Amino acid sequence: MLLFTPGPTPVPESVRLAMATPTLHHRTPEFEAIFKETRELLFKLFHTDEVIMLASSGTGAMEAAVTNLCQNTLLSINSGKFGERFGKIALAHGLKNVEITHAWDTPATVEEVVEALKANPSVDALAIQISESAGGLRHPVEEIAAAVKAINPKIMVIADGITAVGVEPIDVTHIDCLIAGSQKALMLPPGLAILGLSNEAIEKIGGGKGYYFNLASEIKKQKQNTTAYTAATTLIIGLRAILNQIDEEGGIDALYANTALRAEATGKALEALGLDIYPHHPALSMTTIEDRHAKEIRDLLKTEFGVNVAGGQDHLKGKIFRINQMGLIAPYEMVAVVNAVELALAKLGRRAFDGTASRLFNSTYFQSILGCD
Ligand SMILES: *Cc1c(COP(=O)(O)O)cnc(C)c1O
Repeated sequence: MLLFTPGPTPVPESVRLAMATPTLHHRTPEFEAIFKETRELLFKLFHTDEVIMLASSGTGAMEAAVTNLCQNTLLSINSGKFGERFGKIALAHGLKNVEITHAWDTPATVEEVVEALKANPSVDALAIQISESAGGLRHPVEEIAAAVKAINPKIMVIADGITAVGVEPIDVTHIDCLIAGSQKALMLPPGLAILGLSNEAIEKIGGGKGYYFNLASEIKKQKQNTTAYTAATTLIIGLRAILNQIDEEGGIDALYANTALRAEATGKALEALGLDIYPHHPALSMTTIEDRHAKEIRDLLKTEFGVNVAGGQDHLKGKIFRINQMGLIAPYEMVAVVNAVELALAKLGRRAFDGTASRLFNSTYFQSILGCD
């Protein structure tokens, strides 16, 4: 079965093997050396002033960011389940929340964020997804962050990059906290979250907030290549392995370029089948299709063609399906996926099979690789 859900993503064999070594004690020079090397690799990926690893799923990092960087009112963008989660976290911690709500296919605009800030002067942090995985859209986070800072540089900008870090380059100039999670673009098992922090964020964190998710305690320890509590040693060993493998396979810029090209080719292939892309501004992390037969297509992909893609959640259940683009993905696998979608449509009697999807994928992807168009 080909795993093509936008998280979890498949773990490459080299990484699985790296994680199969005997457990190390976390308070040892051997592990501290691994931790240091991993931190250095993370700095190259995040381009932030500090990076912190937490033994937690991505949501734990979202919670840590909100509790440590917001003291009054959180402005959050709800264009899907993950944006909605930021607001819920704020309320769960007794913070105030102002929410901008959209349909799950619609990204936020700079103008409405500026308006919301002017109407709510108590907002001291903004939280937004870079790629909102619920509907597969891309918010214009860099532009929004720049506008927020132009209004008040003290407002903290928290960017959930769980399906963006490792997918595309992110300009962190105006971002104070950039969040990633292990099981999406980083191709690891779930359980490790990472926060990139600006110096301004570190200043605002001060003595930190909370206990396990107190970022001040972690910053202090992780600068010394250790963690406040037991480190997720195996996952950190895996993280070092995957970041090294990305370097070996041409580097992160090559991965970004490949992801963008693969996403473009997949979109063209599926549109050529008469399918509709769901979000107004698609993220590169996944290809999201809205279709009246979304459930049937997904079921056929799984039972007949050996491809596991994700469906929709809540009101989009049975209405969309989402194909992962994150990670080191061989083009022949994506050819198989778009071909399987075409076969599913043929089985449903929607169109005769003629190889359109794989032809479009191949011509877009490989013509660009050959450098002719
Ligand atoms: C998956 C995801 C999360 C939540 O991460 P967990 O590891 O499931 O806690 C948050 N934000 C986005 C954009 C995601 O895709």
